[in-house]
Amino acid sequence: MRRLLVLSSISALIATFATVNAQGLFGFRLLKLDGEHVVWSTWQGEPKVTHVTYAYVRTRTDTPGAINCQSIGPIDPILERSNLDRTDFRDEVRAAFDMWESVANIRFTEIDDPSRAGILIGAQLEPFGRAFTNVAYRPGDSDRRAIERSIVCFNPEQRWKIGFDGDLDVYDIRYTAAHEIGHAIGLDHPASGGQLMHYKYQEKFRTLQPGDIEGAVLLYGLREQPTDVHPEPRVHSASATSAAIRE
Ligand SMILES: [Zn+2]
Repeated sequence: MRRLLVLSSISALIATFATVNAQGLFGFRLLKLDGEHVVWSTWQGEPKVTHVTYAYVRTRTDTPGAINCQSIGPIDPILERSNLDRTDFRDEVRAAFDMWESVANIRFTEIDDPSRAGILIGAQLEPFGRAFTNVAYRPGDSDRRAIERSIVCFNPEQRWKIGFDGDLDVYDIRYTAAHEIGHAIGLDHPASGGQLMHYKYQEKFRTLQPGDIEGAVLLYGLREQPTDVHPEPRVHSASATSAAIRE
């Protein structure tokens, strides 16, 4: 979960996203690659919903030139070393995708074929650190470049767990996956702590924090709430919205 790349300056953010309120500037930071923000632009439908696929790699997958996750393989060594069940691991990663899906107008779908997936997930073949994300984008002339593929990789030689137990040397899969997915969709480490996207692993919360949500909503828009066929009294729908955001 090390700092990935060159950090954007506050003044650049103000210039590009003038509508962001001051608090947001400290709660999140957009990833900037080679001077430009990056975002998935795989829109479908109206209103625009961004659809991103993901897959677990099945064989050695090399990405020459990648800064992170250059060589990855199946997650099996992670499961073996940390004694984790495959279904449990995948459920935790899915829960991490759901966190972002529940707040922003972006949807993630798992597919079988890694060669067609937007986000690849695997175990590092050259173990280092804890977990990393590599973000590749297409060159373009807009102020936001289109992400082409992101790779999330876990170090199989580290111990991993599901849930919090206060041991900050063993990272929770869901928390770590949610953090890395944040990078995979265009977020960087915020300057201030107290957010899931902060670079420091902590076990104070297991859901997205206000700054994380603001960043995702800025990039993809606020999640459109489904039309309620049988409208509930106002107080009920308000609590449902709150539950969706706070999990
Ligand atoms: Zn990170």
